[in-house]
Amino acid sequence: MNRLLNSIIENNRKWTKEGQVASYIPELSKVDSNLLGICISTLGGEEHCAGDSDTKFTIQSISKIVTLMLAILDNGKDYVFSKVGMEPTDTSFNSIVNLEIKDAHKPINPMINAGAIATVSMIAGKDSEEVFERILKFTRKISNNPNIGINDSVYKSEKETGDRNRALAYFMKGTGVLDGNVEEILNVYFKQCSIEVTCRDLARIGAMLANDGIMPWSGERVVPRDVARIVKTIMVTCGMYDASGKFAVQIGVPAKSGVGGGILACVPRRMGVAVLGPALDEKGNSLAGIKVMEELSKQLDLSIF
Ligand code: GLN
Repeated sequence: MNRLLNSIIENNRKWTKEGQVASYIPELSKVDSNLLGICISTLGGEEHCAGDSDTKFTIQSISKIVTLMLAILDNGKDYVFSKVGMEPTDTSFNSIVNLEIKDAHKPINPMINAGAIATVSMIAGKDSEEVFERILKFTRKISNNPNIGINDSVYKSEKETGDRNRALAYFMKGTGVLDGNVEEILNVYFKQCSIEVTCRDLARIGAMLANDGIMPWSGERVVPRDVARIVKTIMVTCGMYDASGKFAVQIGVPAKSGVGGGILACVPRRMGVAVLGPALDEKGNSLAGIKVMEELSKQLDLSIF
């Protein structure tokens, strides 16, 4: 397995030259675009990694699956999906257009920014600090890494320049989708996006989902099977934004990307997989990361379809 992963990384290194690192969050433009890493975490508890698998990067939108799980655990799926839709999007992850024209102003799904901001507003806590602490604690638990924290410079950078997310949030407040203090909700969202992880951490989250909500390393159930099923389904249909269809055809597993260059994928009943490649394609997904996933999926016959 290690030999296979090393050769996949080497075969696809050339693709790191093609995309662009995210620059709309200034701090992310400093990230090394040559990084490429992969980690696999199997349900039998084995871990295999290659390339830059222990390099830290910000989780960004991959945190949206963590907050979706928490929001459902706190409120039940019916309430969550009364506020946020479950349909794929045909526009970019930070688009505002569907909020105006579709589905009584409900964000179209929890994986786009508007939907994720609405989702985080439903997480329980006496104040925004407690809400974030719960998100961080849950992330540490499901990745089996108690040392996970946030990247402060990225957090500040997001907060300073996050006017597009502010626009989405205030629009949703105006249409009654979002309750509560908008700046505090956004503050939690900016912080959750700045959580620093490695491929190894994310592969373990993928393994927990692949194992229907039970952490393979301890046998402990963290989310009910139904919640794991919902999250995986939303990952297939919405996780790669308006490139989810192509990803499903070419790779065929539930996955979630982030503009930090990570992709978390999960192969039901087999393994969690995470890749890092900070140079992004025009949809905001890791360009080389998708190539790596494509080769891995072919070699190991991972597609669920
Ligand atoms: N923090 C990023 C944003 O809000 C997350 C987007 C992403 O990873 N696609 O714009």
